[in-house]
Amino acid sequence: MTSLWGGKTRCVVTLTFDIDGPSATLRRNPELADHPSAISMGEFGPRTGTPRILELLDRHDISATFFIPGWVAERNRELLKNIGERGHEVAHHGYLHEPPSSLEPDEDEGQILDHASDILESITGERPQGYRSPSWELSANSLQLLHDRGFVYDSSLMGDDIPYYVGEKDRRIVELPVHWSLDDAPYYTYMPVAGRTATMSTPNDVLTAWQWEFDGAYREGRAFMLTMHPHTTGRFARLEALDRLIQHIKQHDGVEFMQCIVLAKLWVNMHGASP
Ligand SMILES: [Zn+2]
Repeated sequence: MTSLWGGKTRCVVTLTFDIDGPSATLRRNPELADHPSAISMGEFGPRTGTPRILELLDRHDISATFFIPGWVAERNRELLKNIGERGHEVAHHGYLHEPPSSLEPDEDEGQILDHASDILESITGERPQGYRSPSWELSANSLQLLHDRGFVYDSSLMGDDIPYYVGEKDRRIVELPVHWSLDDAPYYTYMPVAGRTATMSTPNDVLTAWQWEFDGAYREGRAFMLTMHPHTTGRFARLEALDRLIQHIKQHDGVEFMQCIVLAKLWVNMHGASP
């Protein structure tokens, strides 16, 4: 089989973590700002879940990508510095987790992008080169705005399971696709106050689903790109599932764990900037 990735690499794996904290809840349900219990569910992510995930990644010597809203970043500056110093990528995830497709008339998508980029750069010293839209809901203008600001990749769409190009001709950027089945949130989210009362999946079920996805990606030489949230996966049983998944993946030859920015640049190098 000819490798999409070059050399002996057969399958690329990206582990990504969206440190939403309480921002997604505040944006989606502003009335919950006065509901400390709901807010605390998100606060677990930066406070407890992320340090635990960093320790797991260290143990496996894996470099990952952390998407973080500017609002969360400016309240967790030391954590963000620590993530950068450990060699992980810090990438853009809006300011207060505003989905670009549903901005209010007085909200300017470009200004939100720039404001959050400024915050991340002020903390890590580097301007983010990758973007994941909050709730994976781009607007019709997002890709052009990202291109004009020099972003290398977006990670919000579901049109493939390997990278592909998106945007208008001559203004394309790399898409690193996602999917709800490769996201911890739909499996594990339980929040009665926000109306989310579906039965939670067990970590064992999630481990099985993700192992089967990886096995297929490995067999076909594709990419396995996972989205997780520290307030969700940072819990012990779910972290155990992730640990076991990593151990499963590591038993395979020709697997490369990559940061998103490394994968996006590899894709551009191998497949041209605008094919
Ligand atoms: Zn998010």
